[in-house]
Amino acid sequence: MSDTKLSEVFPGIFLLYLPLPMKPNIVNVYLVRGTHEENSEAEWALVDTGIGSKDSIAAFKDCLEIAGCRPEQIKKIVITHHHPDHFGCAGPYKKLTGAEVYIHPAEWERSQNFMPADRPRWVTDWFRSHGLPLENFGRIPKQRDFWQGMYRTAAPDVELSDGLRIPVGDRVLQAVWTPGHAAGHCVIYLPEELVMIAGDHLLPRITPHVGFGPSTEGNPLADFIASHEKIQKLDVDFVLPAHGGVFQDHIKRSNQIIKHHRVRLQQIVDILRRGPRNGYQLARRAFDFDDDSPVTYQFPATFETLAHAEYLRHQGKVNVEKDRDGTILYELSNGSY
Ligand SMILES: [Zn+2]
Ligand SMILES: [Zn+2]
Repeated sequence: MSDTKLSEVFPGIFLLYLPLPMKPNIVNVYLVRGTHEENSEAEWALVDTGIGSKDSIAAFKDCLEIAGCRPEQIKKIVITHHHPDHFGCAGPYKKLTGAEVYIHPAEWERSQNFMPADRPRWVTDWFRSHGLPLENFGRIPKQRDFWQGMYRTAAPDVELSDGLRIPVGDRVLQAVWTPGHAAGHCVIYLPEELVMIAGDHLLPRITPHVGFGPSTEGNPLADFIASHEKIQKLDVDFVLPAHGGVFQDHIKRSNQIIKHHRVRLQQIVDILRRGPRNGYQLARRAFDFDDDSPVTYQFPATFETLAHAEYLRHQGKVNVEKDRDGTILYELSNGSY
């Protein structure tokens, strides 16, 4: 039990630190205890699950014991989004507890395509069309290579939707839809306690990844910024993030994150002043990486850059055109110089 870490961060709300096999190497999941007034019995909800690894499950079970929570007292498992560190153990925990699983339908859909056995041709074509030099990378790792056995999801019993109120004994968890980091991401707000369980939407030390990848639709960076403006309107005393420590002043941190993206947008405009670039070329300049940087860095950096380039395109500041080999080039529109 030596690695077991949990703390009661608010009366009846426990933070469980669960291990991850990559950076950030901890995910925080939260147990919320409510009480039924008529018989004083406790009911618990779990927000996010960690991954489905042996280590994480062992740590989770130790935490339950220390918190005084019997598995069958967990009646609801609420998922902020489909990433493995949040949804990867919903299957085993649903079995263990008999709880109902809540997730936004867009996240459930994404989870089902998260680990395809083969990478479809259209996806490699998409990578090439944004300039990713696939021939330099050798074998491109697949999600499946890394997450096999650790992504054990469960079909939702209830669809999370914006504003949905989930009773947990005498407490209420309210879903607030915050697309951006993922299309169906929801933060969980406790309006009585003024506590926000933020998933990956609002993190204290790192900026959440916002990417435009092969399956992305629309304008995720615009969604992300709008979701920040949305949560700034909530009355919040404490933010309980999925990575990093509990913090206060959510508006200040949210504004820092928005500003980070505004600076990045300006940087992309500045790079494009020197002429049209594809997504990969833009990413190399914006994120300052070279051929020797790990593939696992180059891909997300390119997706994040594309989210910014697409944002500028939706604003009319940037146009796209195809060059002779079919690569998509971004260029500044007339008047954006
Ligand atoms: Zn995430
Ligand atoms: Zn996460």
